[in-house]
Amino acid sequence: MIEQTKVLPSAGNAITEALSAEKRALAWTHTARFLTTASQLRELPQTELPEIAFVGRSNAGKSTAINTMTQQKRLAFASKTPGRTQHINLFELGPKTRADALFADLPGYGYAAVARGAKLRWQQVMADYLAHRHALAGIVMLVDSRHGFTPLDRQLLDFVSQRVGTGEVKLLVLLTKADKLSRNEAAKSLAAAQKVLGDLATDHADISMVLFSALSRQGLGDAALVLRTWIPAVTVVEAVVPDTAAPTPEGDAA
Ligand code: GDP
Repeated sequence: MIEQTKVLPSAGNAITEALSAEKRALAWTHTARFLTTASQLRELPQTELPEIAFVGRSNAGKSTAINTMTQQKRLAFASKTPGRTQHINLFELGPKTRADALFADLPGYGYAAVARGAKLRWQQVMADYLAHRHALAGIVMLVDSRHGFTPLDRQLLDFVSQRVGTGEVKLLVLLTKADKLSRNEAAKSLAAAQKVLGDLATDHADISMVLFSALSRQGLGDAALVLRTWIPAVTVVEAVVPDTAAPTPEGDAA
């Protein structure tokens, strides 16, 4: 992964060289734009682009985190507009003409006011998505740092434990609203999450956790960097190397 971030300077772009890996990662997350919405798995586009799914209990801070990470005020709130609350909303990232990844915003779960039938249907869609979505490269799970993993969060981790265990799907847990914690509470929150995630750890698993606050921007750069490293390096290079086939000004004059 370290090699991936070293590839960019050798592309010869002086400005890119001056940027930190974190800033480059954030510049990439800022390219997110709405692609499509789907109420069923078969409506999702069949794409080879690596997909990163955002999941979390309702009110965990998922929309706020996506908006902060993509620096677009209302991007993920599209998922909260009537008619879209129970949809998977896809966002495209990378250069406009050559997207290199997708973000999938999955519906928040555990919202008390949702009818039981709808809840069960969505748990099933979520389980199918997480277990079978071919392009799924990674999962970002949003967990309120004050409350830790709820039973539904743990159930969701069960759905993905096999794919996470083999390293096929990577996992980042954002412990949200960290601005509400004292230092001591933050340390306790991390330790508790570490304990739960330890059960998923294997030699191949790629699991990270970050104390995150949209309000103070704590953990924002770290989170973006983790996601960036999940996307294969080759697309990073392609995104910044100018088209060498294009004639240079000198070439035109000659
Ligand atoms: P979602 O249902 O998971 O999409 O949650 P939202 O993003 O809508 O956030 C739920 C509530 O938590 C809202 O009132 C947000 O303003 C609040 N919230 C979200 N992120 C933060 C944060 O980083 N710090 C604080 N203090 N509040 C937050």
